[in-house]
Amino acid sequence: MQIVIFGSPGVGKGTLSDSLSAKYKVPHLSTGDIFRAEIKSGNSELIQYVEKGLLVPDSVVNKVIEKGLKQDSYRNGFILDGYPRNADQAVFLDNALWKINKRVNIVINLVAPEEAVIERLTQRRMCSKCGALYNLVTMKPKKKDVCDKCDGPLVQRKDDEPETVKKRIGVYKEETSPVIDYYKKKKMLVDIDASKRPKEVYNSAVRAINASVKEPAEAQTPGQQ
Ligand code: ADP
Repeated sequence: MQIVIFGSPGVGKGTLSDSLSAKYKVPHLSTGDIFRAEIKSGNSELIQYVEKGLLVPDSVVNKVIEKGLKQDSYRNGFILDGYPRNADQAVFLDNALWKINKRVNIVINLVAPEEAVIERLTQRRMCSKCGALYNLVTMKPKKKDVCDKCDGPLVQRKDDEPETVKKRIGVYKEETSPVIDYYKKKKMLVDIDASKRPKEVYNSAVRAINASVKEPAEAQTPGQQ
């Protein structure tokens, strides 16, 4: 199953993607995580975009997606988070999937008021070792500043600083939100209220996915194409 998690920065795409990935046993594919890992391992080209809240050029992002889709680990599908982020990327994704006989099954559009999203971004912390996400109000780590999963140190992302948050939300409104119409026209979009607690958001997403993706378990049978 190919699931796209859509929504503004800070709306909870990463958190929901992680839980859906565990439930449906397909990997979480996050372009933001891929770029942050690239930066960490020395690709300084990307810093000018990612840390300033600007979109990485399509030529770079699309290559990442194309390469990703060919990997064996995505054979049974993926939870795609952070892509597509503009109309051209949406078309690119459809074509790339079509070439391998696949399609996006559903687009979950996470919706929350802007103030809530800004509040969440400033309270967000991320494990610098494994990338796990926390929120100092709603999803606290058991030990202060330490990751529950791997004991790594928790940090605030550079692009979660207030000025950059504003920039990212502006870029979302201008460049990314038109993708909503693209998927609406194709009747693939389901809106989910993301101002609720993570568990409720997760339950709504699972209901929407199960209703629209027929027999998800069957799609994962080993050996099936
Ligand atoms: P968020 O959705 O919370 O803004 P992400 O982790 O998805 O955060 O993305 C972080 C940054 O990575 C973006 O601000 C952008 O610079 C870059 N990025 C991620 N995905 C894409 C994409 N599909 N196209 C262009 N840039 C991207």
